[in-house]
Amino acid sequence: MPRLTIGWKLTLWYGAILGISLVVLGAFVFFSLSRSRLAEIDRALEEELAEIELEVRSATSSESRAHALEKYFGEHEFYSIQVSKPDGAILFTSRNVGAEPFPVPRLAADAAEESTDDVLHGGDSPYRMSSRIAESLDGPVIVQAADSLIPYYHERNRLLTVLVAAAPIVIVVAMAGGYWLSRRALAPVDRLTQAALRISASQLDQRVLIPHEKDELARLAAAFNAMLERLETSFTEMRRFTADAAHELRTPLAVLRSETEVALRSPRSPQEYRNVLASQLEEIDRITRLADQLLFLSREDAETTSTSLSPTDVDGMLAAVAEQLEPAAAARMLSLELDDIPSCRVGVDPDRLRRLFVNLLDNAIKYTDEGGTVRVAGDRNNGTVELRVTDNGRGINQHHLPYIFDRFYRADPARRETEGSGLGLAICQAIVSRHHGAIRVDSTLGKGTTVLVSLPAFDSCATD
Ligand code: ADP
Repeated sequence: MPRLTIGWKLTLWYGAILGISLVVLGAFVFFSLSRSRLAEIDRALEEELAEIELEVRSATSSESRAHALEKYFGEHEFYSIQVSKPDGAILFTSRNVGAEPFPVPRLAADAAEESTDDVLHGGDSPYRMSSRIAESLDGPVIVQAADSLIPYYHERNRLLTVLVAAAPIVIVVAMAGGYWLSRRALAPVDRLTQAALRISASQLDQRVLIPHEKDELARLAAAFNAMLERLETSFTEMRRFTADAAHELRTPLAVLRSETEVALRSPRSPQEYRNVLASQLEEIDRITRLADQLLFLSREDAETTSTSLSPTDVDGMLAAVAEQLEPAAAARMLSLELDDIPSCRVGVDPDRLRRLFVNLLDNAIKYTDEGGTVRVAGDRNNGTVELRVTDNGRGINQHHLPYIFDRFYRADPARRETEGSGLGLAICQAIVSRHHGAIRVDSTLGKGTTVLVSLPAFDSCATD
């Protein structure tokens, strides 16, 4: 079955609802008009009966009664009149009753109301007949007036024909109007679709036109543009990231290659080969570290690895990390100090948190000149635990600070030998946001740097 467009669906729904409404409305009009027309006929018959009754009552003899009835009702233009005894003996019929009289109903002598029936008379013609008891000089008589129902049925049929013929015309005209309206209303959607189809991954800077009316479609177009903007940003970031990663990998590979080429050019002593291999090992370490960092970041981006946060004592963990990095600090003649840290249980992923502090301490050690101090301190503050890694090293220029967490961003890229790849702080930020915490860097050039990490405390921390 072919798929219907929204325009057709709306039109069909519209037509169906209109059709049902018209049928209900038509039935209501038909039945209420029929009923009120019948009530009109009954009222006229009732008035006629009252007139006959008056003549019958006021007659002083059966002759004068017959005379009066004949005079006033014998040639009646509209109604068929009949007067009879309750036992069925006919006293009077108007000329239009014909040879066969109307059936005489059995009415109780004291019946106050007239009775009304539909009867067939004179060759199965339908009649509306009203009968009533009237007092007369020789006891009660039954007076009857009847009206042909043929005009009434004709009227009803005419009304039915008009309703049945008009309804489909109204529905078709309304559906055509509905279809036209829906096409008009949905035309901007078509334009949006065409515009969206034209935009490919290489043209993410394009935007769709936002309609002037501030309606749902304008909101859809604006939302679509906002999505394009986000896509463009992440595409650009991804491209830059890939290019940066390739560039970072190329440098150590180029070093490896040139060292190998030089070593192969002429025969060397075992010691010289050892030196080359040791230098190559360094480059391989650098590549391995970079690959590990890239893998970690891409897993964090894709959130492929799950985080199970378990309550961990941060003070114990920090002490262990400080101990691990003590030799590196000592090698650079730095003093690594660990302040009293409140014994706090924080919901963490221990491996990630360890990596975070190793990165921070590693940076502090790397960027602090010999004889400097690196200090780790902690506080608790309204349900969070705040940890600080402070050094009195070279500091960071203010204009670098906003970008310090960007991937591959290095404040001083010229010093490749001492510095890392520029991924360390990006990894720290990814880890902290996994823990629903925050990370901030305060730094003064030439004076030192403080990195502040706040993490939500798992439970209340002990005061020391
Ligand atoms: P890297 O791997 O190069 O250390 P990071 O992302 O860890 O990369 O840091 C980004 C840049 O921020 C570094 O290149 C360095 O210039 C600066 N930086 C980070 N930590 C410190 C610090 N403690 N003192 C001075 N500069 C720092």
